[in-house]
Amino acid sequence: MEETLLMIPGPTRVAPRVLKVMSDAIMNHRSADFAEILTETNEMMSEIFQTKNPAYTITGSGTAAMEAAVGNILNKGNKILNIVGGKFGQRFAQIAEANGGSTIVHNVEWGTGVNPDDVKNILDEDDEIKAVTIVHNETSTGVTNPIEEVGNIVKNYDALYVVDTVSSLGGDDVAVDDYNIDICVTGSQKCLAAPPGMAAITVSDKAWEVIDKVDSSSYYLDVRKYRKYASNEPSETPYTPSVSLMYAMREALNVIMEEGLESRIKRHHLAAEATRNGVKAIGLELFADEDVSSATVTAIKMPEGVTDKDMRGAMRDKYGIVLAGGQDHLKGNVFRIGHMGNVTYKDIVTTISALEMTLKGLGFDVELGKGVGAVADTYLASPHF
Ligand SMILES: *Cc1c(COP(=O)(O)O)cnc(C)c1O
Repeated sequence: MEETLLMIPGPTRVAPRVLKVMSDAIMNHRSADFAEILTETNEMMSEIFQTKNPAYTITGSGTAAMEAAVGNILNKGNKILNIVGGKFGQRFAQIAEANGGSTIVHNVEWGTGVNPDDVKNILDEDDEIKAVTIVHNETSTGVTNPIEEVGNIVKNYDALYVVDTVSSLGGDDVAVDDYNIDICVTGSQKCLAAPPGMAAITVSDKAWEVIDKVDSSSYYLDVRKYRKYASNEPSETPYTPSVSLMYAMREALNVIMEEGLESRIKRHHLAAEATRNGVKAIGLELFADEDVSSATVTAIKMPEGVTDKDMRGAMRDKYGIVLAGGQDHLKGNVFRIGHMGNVTYKDIVTTISALEMTLKGLGFDVELGKGVGAVADTYLASPHF
């Protein structure tokens, strides 16, 4: 049987060599041998986060790291500013509320990026705001927020800067220290192309000062325990980690190091540009403003007269390609192509070709080959291909 092509914004295709290490024998998670794997993994995570600070892996999905980020910095009633322009921005606000925070939501129209000046104005008006959360790559809308610019603002205030890079780290520029990020979180199953189930977090000195004075609202996700156990000899995690996933995580990060972070990011940007050009050439409209369009996922308006069920159904059943639907009020009106992780030229060509055939089959006026031609032109015009 033909293998299904996952063109969704996570989980993404995992390289065979990464899958293979998960069948290695389970070892004692409190042994010197496992400590070596853990330390190597955390050190590579720091390198990918582009920070001098340690990074910690957490067994759990990306949301666990989001919760660790917020739950460790808030005492009951502390004010937190949440920038919300999509599903994951909302999630950060919900997590802050669930952890006793008093949330101030700054709503940004879905499909657009935040205006950094607005963040400055809000911070100027309220000096009790203890932290600002933002989602770098809003996976639900295909928008990349200007996290560097916002970081340059937040650093001037007595507030921590908390950034979700779950669907961008390893696929787009994220320089934690240069962008003045205090707490940055990510997940294994998106651009890092590891299996789902692991998350990572890094914490600045400014954030530790706050964390050390706060009663963490979580036991399992108390990051002080992760810091303490990591410094043990041999290095450990506070509780039993998913040992097999840690093998996979290390191998996936090895793959990234071999490719080189910079090349990998260029590959993602090129895949995104080719995807956008391909869908536009077919005659479809992008959902997000193009000047803030994501390097890792593209949201596209569902063409008039075509239903999500028919379109994504045919893509999946006839062509073996899985696309993502819209979330929340975008359900049915938008579909999304994930181009993150190990995505190649072949994947984009195949996807755009199948999209042309699917839409033609559904009666949409498509000139076959136009989208594929635009993809090919984009790749040929790039110096990085
Ligand atoms: C996928 C994702 C998450 C985390 O989701 P999990 O299902 O918990 O891994 C968080 N933020 C963004 C932007 C994401 O794309």
